[in-house]
This record gives sequence, structure tokens and C-alpha cells, in this order.
Amino acid sequence: MNNKVVVAGGGIGGLACALALSRAGVEVDLLEQAAAFGEVGAGLQLGPNAVRVLDAWGLTEALHAVAAFPEALQVRDAHRSVTLGRMRLGALSRARYGQPYATIHRVDLHGLLLDAVRLESRIRLHLDSRLAGYEERPDGVRVTCENEAVYEAGALVGADGLWSRVRSEMLGAHPTRVSGHLAYRGMVSADDLPGLLREPVVTAWLGPHVHVVHYPVRRSEWFNVVAVVEGMLGHGHGGPAGSDPQSWSHEARQTDLLRALGPVCPDLRAMLGGVGEWKLWALNDRAPVASAAEHARGRIALLGDAAHPLRPYLAQGAAMAIEDAWTLGRLADEASGQPQWASIFARYAQTRWQRNARVQSRSQRNGTIFHASGALRLARNLAMAVAGESLMDNPWLYSGPPDPLAD
Ligand SMILES: Cc1cc2nc3c(=O)[nH]c(=O)nc-3n(C[C@H](O)[C@H](O)[C@H](O)COP(=O)(O)OP(=O)(O)OC[C@H]3O[C@@H](n4cnc5c(N)ncnc54)[C@H](O)[C@@H]3O)c2cc1C
Repeated sequence: MNNKVVVAGGGIGGLACALALSRAGVEVDLLEQAAAFGEVGAGLQLGPNAVRVLDAWGLTEALHAVAAFPEALQVRDAHRSVTLGRMRLGALSRARYGQPYATIHRVDLHGLLLDAVRLESRIRLHLDSRLAGYEERPDGVRVTCENEAVYEAGALVGADGLWSRVRSEMLGAHPTRVSGHLAYRGMVSADDLPGLLREPVVTAWLGPHVHVVHYPVRRSEWFNVVAVVEGMLGHGHGGPAGSDPQSWSHEARQTDLLRALGPVCPDLRAMLGGVGEWKLWALNDRAPVASAAEHARGRIALLGDAAHPLRPYLAQGAAMAIEDAWTLGRLADEASGQPQWASIFARYAQTRWQRNARVQSRSQRNGTIFHASGALRLARNLAMAVAGESLMDNPWLYSGPPDPLAD
């Protein structure tokens, strides 16, 4: 039983965790509340730090079959169209970090991890299995599901996302933080775009209180578009007030989005106009992790959004979950079939918490900078003009993840 772990949550973090633990020789029961893995979500960005982990897991070929690899990241003014700053990606990312910068549809990343998980005989997937609670004992954990199934194992990893049940049992039921930002998401076929907008680049358009990001996915055949505006669900956005804040897929109207964005330049208008269907998602998060004890306690560990939910403004949500998983795999591997989970989880938490907290803080700060108005906006634009590429690059981040066995 000790060499067995229950992973709660079959999102990107949970699948990555199951894969990493299985490759380290650990038996895994993975519990996912959904009845099936569905086609939900839109684009995600994967910095070289996340691509490095996928490469280490032998998933490079699978990644190349579905991802796009943008040549640059550019920042433009949403109203005046001018380019404020540009960072080269592509060959430069490979030269600087040994790995490319990728953009991918969430469903495709989830799918390639799921394919890898299904090849592992040590992993058992349990759908329709919503964790209800757990009991930690001196020799292991006992996990119960709402369908009354019971699992016994040496440890439990809560990879059950922003609204984590494992987290609320471990740390107390503290509500998530409402950011006051709403994300409109949609996809545009590259065939429907004028030439310049089809360039394989990540573009961030900034305006006062709004920003829009688009980038290629699916081998650059599609573009993912996310527009972030300030407001609340039901107050001129989406369905009625009080709509489920946990849903990723509220109905959304383009007219509401265009009203919130105000006048935008023709290129941005063309990109927005190409989106056939918009979905709306209210961005919630939590304060940055404040100590290792918020990441793991005894035989229970949190991973991904359950531990450190992020605003998407540094584009590292999936990457940090993947890094967490890789770290756990490294530590479990070192234990060679005799894992002492409390000690493995303590080292995991020690390795991860400050990096995750830094990414959480930087993501939040980027939101303020992206939406700046007045003097802050002028200062931002000046700084971008003077030092664009070095401001946009993040060597401390992209050269990761830190190896927990390095000391
Ligand atoms: C449906 C969905 C769509 C998303 N779309 C986007 C997107 O378009 N763009 C973007 O940037 N990010 C998106 N995300 C978020 C992104 O996937 C995460 O921020 C990041 O990948 C970290 O993943 P995670 O595995 O930690 O959490 P999540 O991706 O939230 O996965 C958590 C998983 O746990 C399951 N779960 C929750 N509670 C329980 C329980 N009690 N028992 C068992 N299972 C449970 C959930 O069903 C889910 O599958 C989406 C997440 C979800 C769940």
C-alpha cells in the first residue's frame, strides 16, 4: 500500500503527476469527477521550462504533432496599433534555453498526457469519481468518493484545481479571490485571417482596463483569442448575475465584449471579428503561497491550481502544474520503491513553494501593468520602448524547473 498514491483530479496537473509517479515505479489511482474527459478549454502557452519537462518524459514528438511554436512575442497598443515591444522566441528560445516556446490547445495537451497515462500499467483511471474526503492515518491515507468508493494508499495528491476539496480539508475552507477580471475566449481559423495576422507570433494588445492575447495553436491552423476585461458575470457580461463562478464556459456575446473594449484598431477588430463563438470565464485566484506548509502536510500534497492558482498573465498555469509533477516524480524515483511520503512531500514543498509564489505574484502584477492607464501607462510604454526584450524575457523562469536533487 505504501508504494501507491491516490491523485485527485484528472486535469493537466493530475495526469502529469500520475505519469511522473508511475515512471518512478509508484502505483496510482487517479480520480476524476467528470464522467468523461471532454473537449473543454481553449489555448495555453508553454514556456521552455514546461517543454523541457515534456521532453524529459519522451513527449516531444506528440507535442510537435499538435502544438505551434511561435517565432516572437509582441506587445501592441490596442487603440493605436503601434508595437510597444517584441521578444524573439523560436530559434532564440532554443539557443538560450535549449527548448522552444510552444502554444497549444488545452484539449490537445490534455490529450497527449492522457495517451501517455493510458500506456502506463501502474495507473488506474477512475472517472465519475469525485473525492468527498480523506482520513490521514499513521500508515497511510483512506480516500472516499461521493460514489462511495474507497481507496487506501500511502499518500494523496490533491490536483483538483482552483476549487480543490483536498485543499479545503487540508488548509480550511477559505474562499477564492474574485479578481474582477473576465476572460472571453474564442478560436479563429487561420484561413479566415488577413496575411499579417496569420504570422506565427504571440500578440498581446494592451489598453486601459483591457487586454487581448492571441496566438497560434494546432500547428498554426487556428488562433486562440483571449480578451480580458474588467467586470462581473451577469453585469453586462454573460448570463444572469449569480452564474456559476466555477464554469469555464459561460455563454458570451461579442457585442458585450466590443462595448467593454471600446474603440480598437483595425487589426485587432479583424481578429476579434473572426471568432465564431465566444465563451466567458470569471478569473478567480488566491493570495500567493506563503509557506511550504501550504503545499504539503504529512502524507497529503497539493499540486497545480489546487496549490497555487494563477491569473493567466504570465501564461504559466499549466507549466507550473507540470513542473510540480516532475519534481514529485524526481523525488519518488530517488526513493526506489521505498517512499517515505511525508519526507518526499516536505522536500517537494520546499522546492516548489517560493517559485510558485513568485509566479503567482508576477502574474498578478502583469495584470496591473497590462491594464494600466494614465501615467503608469506612459511609463510602461516608455520602458517597453527602451528595454522591451529584456523586460519580457524571464531567464529565472524559463531555465527551470529547479532540480530537487541538485543539492
Ligand atoms: C474544464 C477546464 C477548462 C480550462 N480551460 C482553460 C483555458 O482555456 N485556458 C487556460 O489557460 N486554462 C484553462 N484551464 C485551467 C488550466 O487547465 C489550469 O490552470 C492548469 O492546467 C493547471 O491544471 P490543474 O490540473 O492544476 O487544474 P485543472 O485544470 O482545474 O484540473 C482539475 C481537475 O480536477 C477535477 N476535480 C475537481 N474537483 C475534484 C474532486 N473533488 N474529485 C475528483 N476530481 C476533481 C476537475 O474536474 C479537473 O479535471 C481549464 C481548466 C479546466 C478544468
